[in-house]
Amino acid sequence: MTDQTRRSGNGSLCSYSISEELGKRRNASEENAYANALAQLDKALRHIQIKRGVAETLRYPKRELSVTFPVLMDTGDIKIFRGYRVHHSTVRGPTKGGIRYSQDVTLDEIRAMAMWMTWKCALMNLPYGGAKGGVVVDPKALSAGELEKLTRRYATEISLMMGPESDIPAPDMGTNPQVMAWIMDTYSMHRGFSVPAVVTGKPVEIGGSLGRTEATGRGVIFTVRDALKLKGIDPDETTVAVQGFGNVGFVAAKFAHEMGMRVIAISGSRGGIYNSRGLDPVAVNNFRQESGSVTGFKEADQITNEELLALNCRVLVAAAMENQITSHNAGKIKAAIVAEGANGPTTPDADEILNDKGVFIVPDILCNAGGVTVSYLEWVQDLQSYFWAVEEINAKLDSLMKHAFNSVLECAHTYKVPMREAAQILAIKRISDAVVIRGIYP
Ligand code: NAD
Repeated sequence: MTDQTRRSGNGSLCSYSISEELGKRRNASEENAYANALAQLDKALRHIQIKRGVAETLRYPKRELSVTFPVLMDTGDIKIFRGYRVHHSTVRGPTKGGIRYSQDVTLDEIRAMAMWMTWKCALMNLPYGGAKGGVVVDPKALSAGELEKLTRRYATEISLMMGPESDIPAPDMGTNPQVMAWIMDTYSMHRGFSVPAVVTGKPVEIGGSLGRTEATGRGVIFTVRDALKLKGIDPDETTVAVQGFGNVGFVAAKFAHEMGMRVIAISGSRGGIYNSRGLDPVAVNNFRQESGSVTGFKEADQITNEELLALNCRVLVAAAMENQITSHNAGKIKAAIVAEGANGPTTPDADEILNDKGVFIVPDILCNAGGVTVSYLEWVQDLQSYFWAVEEINAKLDSLMKHAFNSVLECAHTYKVPMREAAQILAIKRISDAVVIRGIYP
């Protein structure tokens, strides 16, 4: 830091030190999700006339909490875990974002996903800002009792930042409705009464919404349907490869199959399977639940994840995790449409390669927005203590996804940019408008 910077008062001092840190991030590896999120933001900002200071506020998380906490394990040992909760923006409302349990969780990854949640909520016009949380843990390595203790302690640690009017978590990789139930119960115990609206993605028995479990995958296929229509391709003539076969990937594969598309390949973390005549996603999922993996499914050939990405298919659904499509494999992708069920599956370098090849990308903040959209509907139902039929939820989801898809398409035509930039332009404009209308406090 220079002497001049130090002399220039608190505001400059702060913005200088953050910018220096970001300079380093820009040179970080292709796999740094936060660097990638910032690169995408820079790209979108080139098209938008907003004040430099307003744009700067979008670069940084509003607040970050990093915690370490002990858990009493079944062996009697005490193990220390690290967790995070990051709020990116609170300008348009309370923050919303999932909680991830994974051995690979990093603060930069959580920052990136919190930023993407801000864009996603604004794009869908939901009254939320973005957040994300995570614990560095392999949930499969814990007993059910240990997982519950870890969850209740993490929920207590982040309760400083969590609440039905301030920050509402949801499931993400490695977490599920049961984990949400423990978080809801822990928060409620501390308040002395039940607070169902503190988390979404809960079991329906305690205030969850019908249709929430399937909402992300269902939304993915709604956007695939709209993209196929745009390209004039019949679903019956569509082959699909699905990378990642968890909550998002399985449901997306199931709805693609139900809509008449042929799902020819599916992969999980241990590899994939291929059958040119088509796979039944429900049968594959039953096999996976019994054996722990999709590999070994009888009516298919074994393939690697890299082979799945390079398959000759119309639609590639990337539903595993971030940084799967990189500069190393993007050139080999033959799909006409890439649907980003996962958050950040395509690195900025790979994005350029796919755009140059003319691949139509349905970007993550649009493609997988069905989850947060039905989470929003769940929150509204909890707050009003009045619940809707599943048909009503699915119809609302369909209409909101269709509207968002068409708005992004229109923006892409107006600015002559790919769908990702268009989605970000739309979202960022809405957020910067909100910043300007609210004004800078004090
Ligand atoms: P999940 O844990 O249920 O499933 C992830 C799947 O991906 C697992 O089957 C895992 O084996 C597989 N996988 C991991 N690494 C892989 C690899 N390298 N190749 C192929 N498969 C691999 O998680 P999920 O909830 O389905 O989330 C998947 C992605 O979707 C994440 O990026 C998440 O942030 C995003 N997302 C989830 C939701 C939701 O509602 N669950 C909503 C929006 C976005």
